[in-house]
Amino acid sequence: MNPATQPFVLSQPTQAFLHQPKRMLIGGQWVEAVAGQTFAVHDPAGENIIAHVPEGRAEDVDLAVRAARRAFESGPWATMSPAERGKIIWRIGDLLLQHADELAEIESLDNGKPRAVAYAADVPLSADMFHYMAGWATKIHGNHLSLSCLYTPGVPYHAYTRSEPIGVVGQIIPWNFPLLMAAWKLAPALAAGCTVVLKVAEETPLSALRLGELLQAAGLPDGVVNIVTGYGETAGAALAAHPGVDKVAFTGSTEVGRLIVQAAAGNLKKVSLELGGKSPNIIFKDADLDTAIAGAASAIFFNHGQCCCAGSRLYVEKSVFDRVVDGVANIAQKIKLGPGMDPNTEMGPLVSSIQQNRVCGYLDLGRQEGARAVVGGQRRQGSGYFVEPTVLVDTQPQMRVVQEEIFGPVVVAMPFENLEDELVAEANNSIYGLAAGIWTHDLSRAHRVAARLKAGTVWVNCYNIFDASLPFGGYKQSGWGRESSEAVLSNYLETKAVAIRL
Ligand code: NAP
Ligand code: MG
Repeated sequence: MNPATQPFVLSQPTQAFLHQPKRMLIGGQWVEAVAGQTFAVHDPAGENIIAHVPEGRAEDVDLAVRAARRAFESGPWATMSPAERGKIIWRIGDLLLQHADELAEIESLDNGKPRAVAYAADVPLSADMFHYMAGWATKIHGNHLSLSCLYTPGVPYHAYTRSEPIGVVGQIIPWNFPLLMAAWKLAPALAAGCTVVLKVAEETPLSALRLGELLQAAGLPDGVVNIVTGYGETAGAALAAHPGVDKVAFTGSTEVGRLIVQAAAGNLKKVSLELGGKSPNIIFKDADLDTAIAGAASAIFFNHGQCCCAGSRLYVEKSVFDRVVDGVANIAQKIKLGPGMDPNTEMGPLVSSIQQNRVCGYLDLGRQEGARAVVGGQRRQGSGYFVEPTVLVDTQPQMRVVQEEIFGPVVVAMPFENLEDELVAEANNSIYGLAAGIWTHDLSRAHRVAARLKAGTVWVNCYNIFDASLPFGGYKQSGWGRESSEAVLSNYLETKAVAIRL
């Protein structure tokens, strides 16, 4: 049933989940923090407390890493066939779909996003990542190699590579897509045969805890996935630095990404990073403008702009600039703000007051720098961390609102002349390189510009197209490595060369 038509009440399973005490999943047991501390989880629309979760710290992370190590070295997971692993991963996907209503509600309450969006996007995309990666479990393989052996001519060798799971993986995820980021991280690590300690974001721990129950229901052996709730500075930092962790996979800010790299240096654990962005979205005058305008609005306003790949720098060919800006502003004006659980809501609150203040700080800064808001530009008064969808114009390339990631529903729109070199240079004038959009009917230009943009993903005549088969990740300071697709598997595998003298 489409949740948009449902009344504004929590389902019975969601109420039951919210009322039960929250624990962390360590070694197959649901446990409190060793120190016994908890912290509150808020609904960003009403600002009320919806749950308390354990405040895991270094000692809890240590227990989780030990459990993951035991599960990796011995126990059923270590000896399970790839097909059996694949079946469990597939079942996790099925269980997510079976519990879609409940998961969408939990996500909406905890993060603020509309329940209908969580139901239509976050949950099915999460399930799809498990289903897609389930297939990879049986397709990971090494190669046979033909050696030349220049220094032992005539001696035959049999040589091959093995792809082996990297070991115990620490995964640290943000609050913008709590369930989906957990799925993006867990599914490939499990397909590769790793075991995991997952540190969820303090703002949005709930859907991952429900996911932990579903992992158990799917038959995942104890200790294969351990879920720790806690703060980044304590639990997250302890996980990134832990000598028992072989690899850390992080999604979040570029600033914290740097701290992860430093923390990982102790035991030189492998690192993959999916970080921030300030993605250019380019509209040429020959584009289907109605489609491009709707696409540009959704590129920035989807998930309230709290997307690392948000199309936050909108470049529009000069002759159609006014029309496009008016069109995007018009859409922004009509977006209905409200609590995520209200079926009429099109945009919920930002995740926290910190995030609301951060975004509004950029709006103030933009005004001081000389930018002008065509629409929006303010926080919404009253309860909830709402910020109006905003279109800024009259900016200069070096302004901070053009250069820095705002991570809210704020787009800067800038006109360009039809000079491809200048446009590409301007679009690439960023420390980030996560994604980009191009809107045009000129196929040659689309290919030409796509090749020249320094971005991990380029969408042409579309935006925010995610698929388990598409690699996702960043150039420059947007990250190291790729998520999703076959490419992500290398984050979780070691290659071993075996040479045998016959
Ligand atoms: P963040 O601080 O980078 O947090 C991401 C994750 O890292 C969270 O689980 C966080 O824990 C943890 N963490 C924080 N400090 C840590 C440390 N020293 N060591 C290890 N882990 C640590 O992101 P945020 O505070 O949620 O948001 C800030 C900015 O990050 C956003 O405005 C945006 O620029 C960027 N961001 C990017 C993405 C993306 O998908 N690329 C997603 C979200 C945010 P806590 O939850 O306890 O802080
Ligand atoms: Mg935080």
